[in-house]
Amino acid sequence: MNYESLYVFVNFMSLRVIYDFDSPLCFQLVILMTQPIQADEAITPLFDYQSQTFKHIIEAQNLERTYQMGTVSVRAVRGVNLQVPQGEFLTILGVSGSGKSTLLHLLGALDQPTAGKVFVEGLDLSTLSHNQLADVRLRRVGFVFQFFNLMPQLTAQANIELPLKFSEVPTANAHRRAQELLEKVGLGDRRHHIPAELSGGEQQRVAIARALANNPRIILADEPTGNLDTNTGAEIIHLLRNLNQSQGLTFIVVGHDTRLTTVADRVIEMRDGEFVAEREGGGQVTVK
Ligand code: ADP
Repeated sequence: MNYESLYVFVNFMSLRVIYDFDSPLCFQLVILMTQPIQADEAITPLFDYQSQTFKHIIEAQNLERTYQMGTVSVRAVRGVNLQVPQGEFLTILGVSGSGKSTLLHLLGALDQPTAGKVFVEGLDLSTLSHNQLADVRLRRVGFVFQFFNLMPQLTAQANIELPLKFSEVPTANAHRRAQELLEKVGLGDRRHHIPAELSGGEQQRVAIARALANNPRIILADEPTGNLDTNTGAEIIHLLRNLNQSQGLTFIVVGHDTRLTTVADRVIEMRDGEFVAEREGGGQVTVK
């Protein structure tokens, strides 16, 4: 499939997923990149990020998200306040249903709060247009998911090149960047493999490389070890911490894998949509 037909396919799929938001979100990435645009539009950079000033790279103020299910309301996020300095590795721990994914989606401009505000690199997301929000998702925030969400028919290399294509990076540069990223995540020899030919850990490495493609300074990871065996999970946590340390990237990682606390600078516990405890993390670079 060439990129033009992929692009049309992706836009078609995004419509399907928007109408069916609760289905297994294998095409979630597609929504991230295409929701507000038409098939014949590209997302051009909308901000001069380098010149923006901010005190916290991500900030949430009195954040609320209530889902309305017929007559039933679910308050998934309840009055969350959060300030994340640049370069921090923050782990948010909580049992299933405590609101972690909902919070991450709000922080990454994937969803909009019922009340409260999110600031990404100083930008108040509530003031942005659909295109500007797409720009934030494409260039400023990288997402890593529990189930990897790779495009199944594309090779590892092409999966990583996809967000670069949406950013209109010239093909030769996109090839080079994808190869560099594959080397960085230890998969230099797997670039022509499709996801079905890769192990879970390898697929997650590709997903991490894809999240890094457009050079975001923030990575949001939703249970990145949730679908991996113990050793592979430890390797992925080590890789995330390494990227945080070597490149000064900010990480917000949610999950219930307590090993995520050993590498974190800070740990917040979430229960029933609220932050209930906060402590220093182990700050380790190596994971056991
Ligand atoms: P976690 O990531 O900690 O498992 P979630 O953010 O997925 O928690 O869910 C928090 C609460 O919100 C749960 O009660 C869940 O059932 C509910 N919820 C999540 N997504 C939706 C949705 N799209 N529609 C309705 N309720 C939802």
